[in-house]
Amino acid sequence: MALTFHLDGTHKAARAGRMVVRGITVPTPMFMPVGTNGTVKALLPEELEELGYNLILGNTYHLHLRPGDQLVHKLGGLHRFMNWKGLILTDSGGFQVFSLAKLNKITEEGAKFQSHLDGSSHLLTPELAIGIQENLGSDIMMVLDECLPIPSPREQVAASVDLTTRWAERCLKARTSKANLFAIVQGADYSELRERSAKDLSSLGFDGYAIGGLSVGESKDILSEVCHLTTPLLPEDKPRYLMGVGEPEDLLEAIGAGIDLFDCVLPTRNARNGGLFTRDGQISIKQAKYKEDGGPIDAECGCSVCAHYSRAYLRHLYLSNEILASRLNSYHNLFFFRDLMALCREAILQGRYDSFKFDFLERYLAGSEV
Ligand SMILES: [Zn+2]
Repeated sequence: MALTFHLDGTHKAARAGRMVVRGITVPTPMFMPVGTNGTVKALLPEELEELGYNLILGNTYHLHLRPGDQLVHKLGGLHRFMNWKGLILTDSGGFQVFSLAKLNKITEEGAKFQSHLDGSSHLLTPELAIGIQENLGSDIMMVLDECLPIPSPREQVAASVDLTTRWAERCLKARTSKANLFAIVQGADYSELRERSAKDLSSLGFDGYAIGGLSVGESKDILSEVCHLTTPLLPEDKPRYLMGVGEPEDLLEAIGAGIDLFDCVLPTRNARNGGLFTRDGQISIKQAKYKEDGGPIDAECGCSVCAHYSRAYLRHLYLSNEILASRLNSYHNLFFFRDLMALCREAILQGRYDSFKFDFLERYLAGSEV
């Protein structure tokens, strides 16, 4: 199960690598589709494979509450339960406890919360977060961390960074399987606290490192700054994962700062709301101007939706609340994100990432409707 990470090339801070787990090779930079409830919404696992994905994210919080990680374990683990042959990275459940559940209290022991489903009380400890992820049969587990909003007072963030490090240590000790474990660098927008977090966690020796606590409504400048200051402090031979960030312009910025992995609900959630990604920006398919548009979503896209279906048809499906709208839109959007990662990787290997990023964004940002 041990993860290996090999750098194929760099351009300034940007990296093109290969992460190998269980004999499965993930070329980086890579975007992970999010499978919240044991499904990447609207798509078959076979379709994700067809799109070129072999790594997805599973949500510990959701699967623990429903159907229960012990049930999933009993039925052979999450891969078998959902018929997914690729790799699964699971989050620790912490982010959902902070964002979705009614959070009662954070103590040294863990996070007390009430389920958003039935109001039942739970205590998520670092040990339980690992136990759940091991029951799910995760390939890459995440430590339990505390996630604070930006801005938060410095004193509070400092205490939280230290708590996150102590929890990370407990997660390492709690691991009984050979699953990989990634730590999460916190510290909000305080550079010295991000530094402290990155150094303390690196010294403990994890299989990879994530940057957490972003995508909480901070400015794009903060996102960029935190990435640029954190990546040089992390081990070069381990993957770096920016959690929950998915806007194409943020992905390109973070790749330029040396990030390798991403996850976000953006491509699939926006697809279900009629938001489609194109080289000329994100478009909203419900607009009247697409009523008689017989062209594809994106004339340069190589996906089968763009090969066979018109904007007018997709608009019609969306306005008619047809299930197929979500399926086709999600398929195209995930193709776009997979393609974008491949283009970035190629540009890094050819030493022209800066100009690729500039050209891509100039066109993408000029055309965005959403
Ligand atoms: Zn397409």
